[in-house]
This record gives sequence, C-alpha cells and structure tokens, in this order.
Amino acid sequence: MRAYNRGVLILLTNDDGIFEPGLAAMYRQLNALGEVHVVAPAAGQSASAHAITLNTPVICDRVRVGGEFQGHSVHGQPADCVKLAVRCLLPRKPDLVVSGINNGENVGIHVLYSGTVAAAAEAALLGCAAVAVSLERGAEMDFDRAARLALRIIGRLLEQGVRPGQLFNVNIPALRPGWPRGVRVARQSTVPYNDRFEPRKDPEGRDYYWLRGEFADMSSDGDTDLRAQRGGYINVTPLKVDLTDDRLLAEMAQWGWPEVEPT
Ligand code: MN
Repeated sequence: MRAYNRGVLILLTNDDGIFEPGLAAMYRQLNALGEVHVVAPAAGQSASAHAITLNTPVICDRVRVGGEFQGHSVHGQPADCVKLAVRCLLPRKPDLVVSGINNGENVGIHVLYSGTVAAAAEAALLGCAAVAVSLERGAEMDFDRAARLALRIIGRLLEQGVRPGQLFNVNIPALRPGWPRGVRVARQSTVPYNDRFEPRKDPEGRDYYWLRGEFADMSSDGDTDLRAQRGGYINVTPLKVDLTDDRLLAEMAQWGWPEVEPT
C-alpha cells in the first residue's frame, strides 16, 4: 500500500522522454505528495519550446517504465502531453503539474527554448499550479538526489499555498561536492548567448553546422537565475506567460496611430 495522499492529483511530464531517468526519479519522490499520473513524450523533445501538434495525429500508448510505473507515452510535444492529459486522460484537473527533471539547466534565455518549461507553462495556462525542474549538466547526474532536493522545494511551495495558474522554474546546480550551497529566489536573466556554429562536412562533402556556445559576459547581470546557478544555488523563479513590455506599452499609447476606417 502506497503512503501517498490520494487527495492530491499530480501530473508528471518532461521534454526528454518518458523513459529518461530524471522523470523516474521525480516520480518516486512525488509519490509522497499524492497520486502521480505520467504523461510524457515518447522521444526526446528538448528545445521544442511551446510547440504543439496540429497537422498529424497525436498517438498515445500505455507503457510500463522499468517495472516502476505505468504512463502514457505521447508521440508529440511536451505541450501536447499536458493538453492531452488535462483535457482527456486524467480523471480531473491536476492540483499540481511537474515537468522534469530535465537533463540540463533551463536558466536565462534558455527558458524560451525549453520544452520542460513550456510543458509547465501550458499547465499554468490551463489553470494548474506548475513547476519545471531542471538539473545542471555535470560530471555525475544524480537525479535521485536532485529529485529529493526538488521535492523539498515543491513541498515548500505547496506549504506556502501556490495557486492555480502560478508557474515556477526550479533549477538545481550541478551536484559537485559542497553544492547546492542554498536556495535563491531570483529573476530570469536576459544575458545573451554567444552562439557558435561549428562547421563540419558530412560524408557526401556537404556542409553542416553544429550549434555550440555559452552565455555572454554576465558580470553586469543582477541577482538572476543564471548567477545563482553558477554560484551553486538552487534557484526558483516565478514566471508569467504575459510577454508584454508594460513600459513600452504605456509609451506607445502616446505615439499617435493612423486613422483606420472600416472598408
Ligand atoms: Mn530536455
């Protein structure tokens, strides 16, 4: 008999794929909080951002993962998984949606490309409390330890009383000795990324490019998720889906606009 609280309904998803160890580790920890349903992509969809599937069928298989749990494996995007789960597969709207644990950090402008964060954002759009969890790449990816840390953060959020539609991005630094050094609440960094395309030749002699790079100089960055991450802190950022630039919006209202008549 499981010790979970049957009253709390949790949806667990990710962008790396349903068979990835970060998801299984998070599943084992979330069982302590409630009844966990897993609906996740059949294959890796990292950097798919908030894409959805419109012109092809979204095939959904029941799968058993490592003798540990059953879940729905969705041939689609992370946001598809959340929509399908909430609209069709779960008995009711989940009380909490967790996306992760992602294999790799999702801080700064990477948040915009992240399928992990997009899945949580979709859940927030659908009126659920949502948490994205990512673990920075390091020499050893100890997802079990990361999941225990993530559970403590999620537990704190629930204790504080997270509301439907609230969205949190949690990043755990690489678990090297002495880390994590603590927890920081931080805003999302906007430090640009120095994209570097490595040119290569394929066996046919055609050019191809592989995207590499690193964050630009962050010395003038304030108290951000990126800085906290680099300093070895677990960082928690509240996100919102409204991308409006409020300051520019107010300014633009004064600009004067063309008179446009209906035809
Ligand atoms: Mn990923």
